[in-house]
Amino acid sequence: MSDPKNILMLAGDGIGPEVMGEVKRIIDWSNAKGDTNFVVEEDLVGGACYDVHGVAVTDATMAKAHAADAVMLGAVGGPKWDDVARENRPEAGLLRLRKEMDLFANLRPAVVFDALIDASSLKPELIKGLDIMIVRELTAGVYFGQPRGEEIRDGVAYGFDTQIYSEPEIDRVARVAFDMAKKRGNRVCSVEKANVMESGVFWRKVVTKLHAADYADVELSHMYADNCAMQLVRAPAQFDVIVTDNLFGDILSDCAAMLTGSLGMLPSASLGTKDANGKTPAMYEPVHGSAPDIQGEGKANPLATILSYSMMLRYSFNLGQQADNVDQAVQNVLGQNLRTADIMSKGMTQLSTQDMGKAVVAELEKLG
Ligand code: NAD
Repeated sequence: MSDPKNILMLAGDGIGPEVMGEVKRIIDWSNAKGDTNFVVEEDLVGGACYDVHGVAVTDATMAKAHAADAVMLGAVGGPKWDDVARENRPEAGLLRLRKEMDLFANLRPAVVFDALIDASSLKPELIKGLDIMIVRELTAGVYFGQPRGEEIRDGVAYGFDTQIYSEPEIDRVARVAFDMAKKRGNRVCSVEKANVMESGVFWRKVVTKLHAADYADVELSHMYADNCAMQLVRAPAQFDVIVTDNLFGDILSDCAAMLTGSLGMLPSASLGTKDANGKTPAMYEPVHGSAPDIQGEGKANPLATILSYSMMLRYSFNLGQQADNVDQAVQNVLGQNLRTADIMSKGMTQLSTQDMGKAVVAELEKLG
């Protein structure tokens, strides 16, 4: 049996515990089979943590997150905590985890499953087989740049933010994108607004330099962010890996996500810098929120969280074959016309959250 790996599971609020329960089901199955040796520790985050400790994540949980081999997060938030002070709001727990683990690279795949092709607003021929990976810089850029604020200049009120990137900040996220491309279609498209922004010119320069120095074997192209937005809805299949900054990545990854048609199917990973022992801090979470409107009704789609688990197998533990099996099991379940309420359509069989998890495990059994 392989060395045990520690996973910190932070299910959070709303449907978080329900969808995370189905990942636990898969881990229990694969641990019992001897395929994995995951030691799972569960803890509180978000509103659930606030209710017990008065903060959205405790120092003790942060220490566990730093020590874990990987963190899995469900979702945080809900109307119950709307009046809580900003620094203790459920989202503050998520932000603290991302910031203190220095998770600078956000990976958002946009994959179209054949069985769900009609859920997209685009024509099937445009999105069939779509498989894009967007790598978004997550800890710098205009969302964090200083100075920011409001002030009066010559009697006129201004509001401002600062778009600023250092060479190391661009270099490290571009490396993630190039490394990722090597395991996929070997193409990276770097996106900025070099036509109108100095920071865009700089971004392009740094990516070009890195490419020439270390990744000349990967195909690199550059695109302006506005054109990229158009191309994503015009001819999305042209992309393999897209790397971009925090602001453009925020917008473009949501745009790409919607090509797939369903929030309940979208996984994500956020990665940090490899330490001296070779461990890369990492957190895996579905893109969707805590969906308080369907909490406790058995309607939540667990597949985004299950696909986030698959990303954890691939990127934290190098278990590519097992990750492929999870992805294939999801494909097969959809191919059998099994659906949760959010992706339900005529002629399909509707399953509860738990039954969807069970169906995935049943497929994993078949795949061996
Ligand atoms: P949401 O993603 O929670 O829900 C949007 C809609 O999609 C809802 O109708 C919901 O029922 C549905 N939905 C979402 N995930 C689903 C799933 N897995 N299966 C089936 N249906 C699903 O977004 P929202 O309603 O804007 O926000 C609700 C709460 O979640 C808010 O408090 C918000 O701040 C929080 N939120 C948290 C995160 C996070 O934890 N990363 C992300 C977004 C929103």
